[in-house]
Amino acid sequence: GIVEEPPLRLGDGGAIAPGYDPELDTARALRDDTRQVIAQMQSQYQEDTGISALKVKHNNVLGYFVETPATHQKRMMSEQLNATFMHRQTTANAVRFTTVELAELEGKIARAADQTAELEKAAFEVLTRKALERSGPIARAAAALAAVDVAASLAELAETEHWARPELFEDRRFHVIEGRHPVVEAALRKELRRGGDSHEFVPNDCDLSADHTEANDRSNNGPKPIWLVTGPNMAGKSTFLRQNALIAILTQMGAYAPAARAEIGIVDQLFSRVGAADDLARGRSTFMVEMVETAAILNQAGPRALVILDEIGRGTATYDGLSIAWATLEHLHDVNQCRALFATHYHELTALTSALPGLKNATIAVKEWKGEVVFLRQVISGAADRSYGVQVARLAGLPKSVVGRANEVLKSLETGSESSAARARRLIEELPLFAAAAATDIEPEPAQTSGLEARLRDLDPDAMTPRDALEALYSLKALLEEE
Ligand code: ADP
Repeated sequence: GIVEEPPLRLGDGGAIAPGYDPELDTARALRDDTRQVIAQMQSQYQEDTGISALKVKHNNVLGYFVETPATHQKRMMSEQLNATFMHRQTTANAVRFTTVELAELEGKIARAADQTAELEKAAFEVLTRKALERSGPIARAAAALAAVDVAASLAELAETEHWARPELFEDRRFHVIEGRHPVVEAALRKELRRGGDSHEFVPNDCDLSADHTEANDRSNNGPKPIWLVTGPNMAGKSTFLRQNALIAILTQMGAYAPAARAEIGIVDQLFSRVGAADDLARGRSTFMVEMVETAAILNQAGPRALVILDEIGRGTATYDGLSIAWATLEHLHDVNQCRALFATHYHELTALTSALPGLKNATIAVKEWKGEVVFLRQVISGAADRSYGVQVARLAGLPKSVVGRANEVLKSLETGSESSAARARRLIEELPLFAAAAATDIEPEPAQTSGLEARLRDLDPDAMTPRDALEALYSLKALLEEE
């Protein structure tokens, strides 16, 4: 009774399939095919009267009416026909009649739209009731189909995407060889096929296996349960963290995993703290959300948990953030003692490997080529030497003058050894004001931004409530009309 792709709201109409309710079909036909219904009636009247010149027409005064050339007046007004055809008007060339049937049709057409909606609603209610009466078997069939669907889809992915069958263990190893992020991989491939500026996904290993015997923890030789992942922005840290979490989930749910090989010790909890959408609308700042989530992890993660933490301590002052990240890492290592991947831009943390035997530094390889950063996407052991923030900013299209100025400031910051306040004072003296403006002589940026663009640029979607967003949309539209 329901069409293959029903509308989202019943009120939009068209939910009930044709042929299900004849009354509804008639109402719909009337609403949609007025012309055809009229044509049918016209040929019926031509047959009844034997006048092939008879026409059914419409105007605002008479509504629908029958019209014949004046020459047929006599026949039309004969006793045999005048019961059906009531004379309404005679013009120079034609005579016009109405019939009860036509008057009814008129009303019906007017009501057809309303009626269609009502009949659809009624039919839908009947179907709903019937479905509810059989909700048990329907739900069981749906659950069975869903299970088949999930299994079949995963099997197809395993086959076509070359996923491996993971091996599960009772201990706490986590060893993935040539792991991949299935979504990023697919997106890159799609882009490549489209001929875009893309590349193949680079698979990466991850070994968090730890034999948690005291001896191994102290010896600093055995495998490490926490990897501290450093590397520039855009290097692929988040992707690496998430792909391993996905592999853990897929393994635990009994699926194949996007890797050449995966040996997974049972994971009974998975925690992630990754930068997702903000929660400002609910009155929590980005930093607050980050801390609430980190607290939940540190308070709950047990020895069989897998934790991925992406850039803890970002939303506050540098030293604050670094201190929080530092203490979080220590807590994970000493108290939670779980397997974890910890991505950070605080390079200072890499020194912690000397204090925390279960910590291993990993980084994502990059190459510097003619002052530009080239991402190799390969996770290797060791620490990133620097963050390449300025190079990434250049890639992103920051004005040349800003990139140049940032490099100057960076160089001075890196060479100074005094306190940060003293350093800033020195910088202001050493790097003359207006140097940024002076540096623009290379090539001034075109400055033809319209009011609309400027307003759009000033908007901060993360800081807006849905209502603010709607108002902003209206004001943008108004600006557009002004411009
Ligand atoms: P980060 O967290 O270090 O800033 P992301 O994980 O967000 O970096 O990755 C940035 C982009 O790099 C991704 O959107 C993806 O296009 C690409 N990328 C990440 N990992 C890989 C990989 N292993 N192979 C190929 N491309 C990758």
